Amino acid sequence: MPRLIGAHMPTSKGLHAAIRNGSEIGCTAVQVFTSSPQQWKAKEITDEIADSFRLAVKETKMQGLISHDSYLVNLAAPDREIRAKSEAALVGEIKRCSKLGIPYVVSHMGSHLGQGEEVGLAMISESVARILDDSPEDVSIAMETTAGQGSNLGYKFEHLRTIIDANQGNARLRVCLDTCHIFAAGYDIRDKKSYRQTMLDFNNIVGFDRLACIHANDSKHPLGSRKDRHEHIGDGHIGLEAFRLLVNDKSIAHAPIVVETPEAESMHEHNVRLLFSLMKK
Ligand SMILES: [Zn+2]
Ligand SMILES: [Zn+2]
Repeated sequence: MPRLIGAHMPTSKGLHAAIRNGSEIGCTAVQVFTSSPQQWKAKEITDEIADSFRLAVKETKMQGLISHDSYLVNLAAPDREIRAKSEAALVGEIKRCSKLGIPYVVSHMGSHLGQGEEVGLAMISESVARILDDSPEDVSIAMETTAGQGSNLGYKFEHLRTIIDANQGNARLRVCLDTCHIFAAGYDIRDKKSYRQTMLDFNNIVGFDRLACIHANDSKHPLGSRKDRHEHIGDGHIGLEAFRLLVNDKSIAHAPIVVETPEAESMHEHNVRLLFSLMKK
C-alpha cells in the first residue's frame, strides 16, 4: 500500500468538491467536516449528497477518507446537557460518515474543566462506550492527541490508553496522531533520536496498530508550550527533518497523513507536495 498524503479540504462548495479539489492538488487522502464544526445542528446527508461524494471518490480514486467532528464536542463536560449533546453529535457524525463511506472520525475527546483528569477520562470512557453502542460499526473513532491547552485531555499517550482499556480494547477505538499537538504537549520529534523515542513511547503505550491517521502540522509554538497553533510544514518550531522521518517511517505507513495547515486555498498544494517530496525514492 502506498503512503497516502493529503489535506483537510474545505467543503464550502460541497463534500464532493473537497474530494475533487484535493485530487487536483495531489492529495491521495482527504479529511473533511461533514457539517459545520461550530454548530450543534448538522445538515442531513441526503442520498444525493452521498451519491455525489461517493462518485467523486470513485472517479478520483481517493483512498484515505477521514472526517473531523465538531469542535463543540466535550464528552467530559460537567454540564449534563452539553455532554448529552456531545454524545448525540458524535453518533450523528458517525452515521453521516457511514452514509458517505468514510471509515474514520477524528475527535478531540474533551476537557475536564476543573473536574480533574481522572474524572474527565472516566466520563469520556463511559460516553465512548455509549456512542460505540449507538452507532454503525463500519466507522471508527480516531481519538486525537491534543496539545493539552487549558484542561484538554489526550495530551499524554496514557490518556488514550486509559480510554481504550476502559472499553476493553474495542477495535473501533483508534487514534489520530497530530505532530503539532504532541510537540506542543512535550513530545520531541525534531531529530532521529527524539523522533524514535517518541514513536517508541507511542507504540508501547497506544500501539501502531491503533493508529488510524496522522495530522502533519508544524507548530507556531515551541516544544511543551501546550499551545495549539499550526504552521506550514518546515516553517515552525518542529522543522522539516521530523516530517522527513514521518513520511519515511515504515512502521506507520498504513496511516494516511493529512495537513491542517493555514491558508488552505493557497498553501495546501505546497504543503502536500512538500511532504511527498520528502519521501525517499
Ligand atoms: Zn489535528
Ligand atoms: Zn490543532
